[in-house]
Amino acid sequence: MTLVNFMPLDRSHPVALELLRLNLGEAAQRVAAEDVRLLVPASATDVVTALPEGSFVTADDSFGFVYANDTAAARVLVGEKPLPSAVSGTTAGVDPLVSGEEWLCGSERKVVYVGDARVESAAQTTVAELLGAAGVGTDDVKAVYLGYPTCSFVVPAHFGDAVTLACDEVRVIGAGDCAVDAVREILDGFHRECCGRCVFGNEGGHQLCAILADACAGKGQDADLDLIRDLAPTMAEQALCEVGQRMAHVAAQALDLFGDEFEAHVSRHQCPAGTCRALVTYHILVSRCTGCGECLDACEEDAIEGKAGFVHVIDQRACVRCGKCLDACPKGAVVTAGLKKPKTPPHPIPCRVH
Ligand code: SF4
Ligand code: SF4
Repeated sequence: MTLVNFMPLDRSHPVALELLRLNLGEAAQRVAAEDVRLLVPASATDVVTALPEGSFVTADDSFGFVYANDTAAARVLVGEKPLPSAVSGTTAGVDPLVSGEEWLCGSERKVVYVGDARVESAAQTTVAELLGAAGVGTDDVKAVYLGYPTCSFVVPAHFGDAVTLACDEVRVIGAGDCAVDAVREILDGFHRECCGRCVFGNEGGHQLCAILADACAGKGQDADLDLIRDLAPTMAEQALCEVGQRMAHVAAQALDLFGDEFEAHVSRHQCPAGTCRALVTYHILVSRCTGCGECLDACEEDAIEGKAGFVHVIDQRACVRCGKCLDACPKGAVVTAGLKKPKTPPHPIPCRVH
């Protein structure tokens, strides 16, 4: 019996499930004619009620990545720890899994989300072609992350290289984005998908997420990067399925590619991109401030000096970087800065704009 996998690889964009919804009648007919069962998330009640009884099995979709690996999936489906063939030495007695998207649409084409843009592409393509199809220019891109199960960053020098699309999500890290924060989000996604049944996948993943969260919150320490370097290879070897293994690979690859940004976060508590709120400084631009006082009212630290009609000024010694002034300003006059700070007056001066 073959299981046809419609579990989501990207919870926000469950490509295979979307395609199944569009092709339910055809899928039900094919199940009757072929020796297969559809593996669908239990939460997709609309799909479950529309399919004939006996044509499907359901699974908990709170850790969807596990189902991209047939041996791991087979174990989890019966309530056991994932045990991939590399560990168990056999796949005997395991129902093979095939991709639901491939079963429905063939292997030549692939639907993928590039950010929020839905792109239908040749399965064999390049990152440059993919970005073009999504209307994203390549000039301002720092790197592209090909989601699970590929789990790899591609930097601009390799945008022209051939890739085989297997993931549902492609994340674009723009030139102005913080790579550390982007990696933090990616690893958080992995940890959400972890089934929690092996120590290195679960605890190792928790450690990696905590290190990245600290780095972005200004609580990083020099030793954190060595901890990632030590932990990643052990996790890659010891985690029981590809979720933990690939999470480790992503952390190690990110550290290789974006080492300078990681270093700046943990050693100097700086975010070079100027986007991690706890690591940036806040400034009020003379060219935009109308002296309305909204920021001054919002600041609970009395860190802003100003009066009506005067450009307000932030006292960097008193500012705790909470970002409330940025949210309060109706003119977009409050900006954040990383290494490069805008020029601002030391004390309030009459406004140039009204
Ligand atoms: S970031 Fe917070 S503490 Fe700093 S000036 Fe703005 S409101 Fe005040
Ligand atoms: S920075 Fe914004 S909120 Fe503060 S006084 Fe200027 S325009 Fe008003």
